[in-house]
Amino acid sequence: MGYFEAKDTTDVVERFAPSPTGSLHLGHAFSAFVAWEAARQAKGRFYLRVDDLDQTRTRSEHVESIFEDLRWLGLHWDGEAMFASQQRNRHNQALQTLIDRDLVYACQCSRKEIEAAVGAPQEGADHPPAYPGMCRDAQIELDGPSVALRLNMARAIDALGGEAKLEELGFDELGEGPAGETGHIQLSAASLKHGLGDIVLRRRDGMIAYHLAVVVDDWSQQISHVTRACDLFSSTPVHRLIQALLDLPTPLYRHHRIIRDASGRRLAKRDGDMALSTLRSQGVSPAQIRELVGLPSIVTE
Ligand code: GLU
Repeated sequence: MGYFEAKDTTDVVERFAPSPTGSLHLGHAFSAFVAWEAARQAKGRFYLRVDDLDQTRTRSEHVESIFEDLRWLGLHWDGEAMFASQQRNRHNQALQTLIDRDLVYACQCSRKEIEAAVGAPQEGADHPPAYPGMCRDAQIELDGPSVALRLNMARAIDALGGEAKLEELGFDELGEGPAGETGHIQLSAASLKHGLGDIVLRRRDGMIAYHLAVVVDDWSQQISHVTRACDLFSSTPVHRLIQALLDLPTPLYRHHRIIRDASGRRLAKRDGDMALSTLRSQGVSPAQIRELVGLPSIVTE
């Protein structure tokens, strides 16, 4: 079934959206198992979205191994996989809507200049410090060469009716954030401004940035439940804000724990030893993968 077809709004539609920039590891397996099982238990759908926005880091062998790893784990997805890179028209339309609402400005700062102004990201931080706003009022041409486009967060909040109104917006968390946050999570102007701040919507190289693309793509696939690791919990208020600005419905969110190695470090794509393909070649079975991430080895109905 195509993802643009109308559906009953009570349907559960889950997704797994890995980036093909490295091998899938145990953390990805956990996310995919949780989303797939939730869809299966609800007799809903499970979609695969290849998050290949960053074409400079995408490798076709990683796309192939996403398919292969999921099939090996028995995590069959409904319909065709969607490729984020093929959604450019929708991404650009969404960006244009924000530009038309006068919420976007062009920024010429290099990463070095930003780091010099705010300091390098803290070890263990989920995201770099908010952009300090050097270009915010500089009136730089949006279509000038080598500019990033940023969301003016203060204006975005005003466009939604200001700080008080913002508290009426929120999202429902079925899992939990890193500090156990669950249930209805209200947006807060202060944390939007001082957390991720004026996020990049389009990078200097012309590529649409993750925060905008993920909102558009979840809507395109009519995702009802977003299941992902809790390091993205702090990005979710920004996704909710973008949904409100674009007048899109908001899915339910289920953030889950992060899978760590024996020393407590979170797994990264460079940790080849935890790659699913490596474990598979060592004779580890899908049931053992489930056990390794703390799930019962047999799928419970
Ligand atoms: N491609 C993103 C990642 O792998 C997806 C994040 C999300 O699920 O929203 O981190």
